[in-house]
Amino acid sequence: MNIQKEPFMNSSYLQQFARSADDSTLFDGAALTDKQRALIAKVDQYGIAWAERAFKHDREASFPTDNYNDLHEMGFLGLCVPERLGGLGADYRTYMLVASRIAYYCASTANTFNMHNANSLWTADMVDAMPMTDEQRASHEHNRALHYGNMLKGKIYSQPFSEGSGAAAGKHPFGTSAQRKDGGWLINGKKIFASLSGSADYYGVLCTEDVPDPTYANTMFIAVPADAPGVSIVGDWDPLGMRGTVSRSLLFKDVFVPDSAEMMPQGVYIKAAATYPHMFMTLTPCYIGLAQAAYDFSVAYLRGEVDGVNVKRRMYPTKQVGIAQMYIKLQQAWALFHRVTSEFKANPSRGERMRALACQYTIMEYCAEIASAAVRVCGGQAMLKTFPLERMYRDSRCGALMLPWTSEICIDRLGHGLLYNEGERD
Ligand SMILES: Cc1cc2nc3c(=O)[nH]c(=O)nc-3n(C[C@H](O)[C@H](O)[C@H](O)COP(=O)(O)OP(=O)(O)OC[C@H]3O[C@@H](n4cnc5c(N)ncnc54)[C@H](O)[C@@H]3O)c2cc1C
Repeated sequence: MNIQKEPFMNSSYLQQFARSADDSTLFDGAALTDKQRALIAKVDQYGIAWAERAFKHDREASFPTDNYNDLHEMGFLGLCVPERLGGLGADYRTYMLVASRIAYYCASTANTFNMHNANSLWTADMVDAMPMTDEQRASHEHNRALHYGNMLKGKIYSQPFSEGSGAAAGKHPFGTSAQRKDGGWLINGKKIFASLSGSADYYGVLCTEDVPDPTYANTMFIAVPADAPGVSIVGDWDPLGMRGTVSRSLLFKDVFVPDSAEMMPQGVYIKAAATYPHMFMTLTPCYIGLAQAAYDFSVAYLRGEVDGVNVKRRMYPTKQVGIAQMYIKLQQAWALFHRVTSEFKANPSRGERMRALACQYTIMEYCAEIASAAVRVCGGQAMLKTFPLERMYRDSRCGALMLPWTSEICIDRLGHGLLYNEGERD
């Protein structure tokens, strides 16, 4: 019997993406600076190629090295590196906007791009605003110049902090340890879900200084070269979604790194985390961009504009209700996103902190709900692997699980934070 194979992917929907890129649907009505517009336009130049490659990387669970080559060519590996040090100097909100656009084309790329940029965004202005000794300030300036230089040369950084315990949720110190040695640190431990495993050149590891009775205040942020003796990658990678992140486990066995591997001076991480809570919601762009993509695909599909299923379905009242409900959720998510990303600052008010948690929760939950609704509204044929929707549906399930601000933790913190004033106990 001659069975005709489906084409590997159907790319006609990408024309819809190109159109929505043209009319800036994602940022409709948002106040953008010229710089933000220019960076987003740059993403649009490359994005359709990333969306096309997403089929392959999802199927193979392979890392989008080709997209990272593009990001390097675009100068985007230095997106959050300050301009005075040769980067593009994106501030927090600019990073969030640009990342949401990358996710629009390929969510796995945006997810991992978040990990890379945490190594520059967190260590630039945020650290400068922290109290430090002159010596710490000088050594930080030296170290980050080295790491930013690496990024500008095309080196990729990742950010493994999850350990399968309560550490990444901020409940207790990280189990991965950094022992002081002459001229550097000896790293031991294990990280799970280390996105970019095998593809990053440096793993920006959150670990605990090996002192008696360590607390969370002893957290260190150290960039371990991927090729350092004692670093190994274990476990397989065959997950439900975000397959292009290749988030396998990392083992560190007596890995020596020099002092220059410090991404932040001792004791600074905990202060930065307390001062800038918004730093923990940098994965929201990934999931709001993904939600927008699922919505835009659905509009194109119902209008009969997706090749292979060029049948209009927009005239059915139930489809209209479905798309309206998706749109309402999307607009709620964007409204919160724009407000909260504009509220980024040191020591935000209680209201701003609560709103950031509400924003994270809303985007992660709504992304999954919008992608789920998209599959139902578009119907059976739309969930074939020749279309992107079933991948978007699977990818969307991951948002609510991302520590340190999982949906559960957001609810925990909101519930407590809204009912108790500072210092109150029962
Ligand atoms: C596609 C993908 C990519 C990822 N990439 C990275 C990465 O690059 N770097 C990285 O560090 N992590 C990454 N993660 C991991 C992610 O952030 C979580 O750490 C991971 O999903 C937790 O898995 P778990 O089974 O340990 O979950 P959980 O059991 O949900 O959480 C881990 C632990 O946190 C504690 N915890 C959970 N909820 C609460 C709560 N409400 N209050 C107090 N404590 C709580 C518990 O002790 C729990 O055992 C990735 C995950 C996915 C799915």
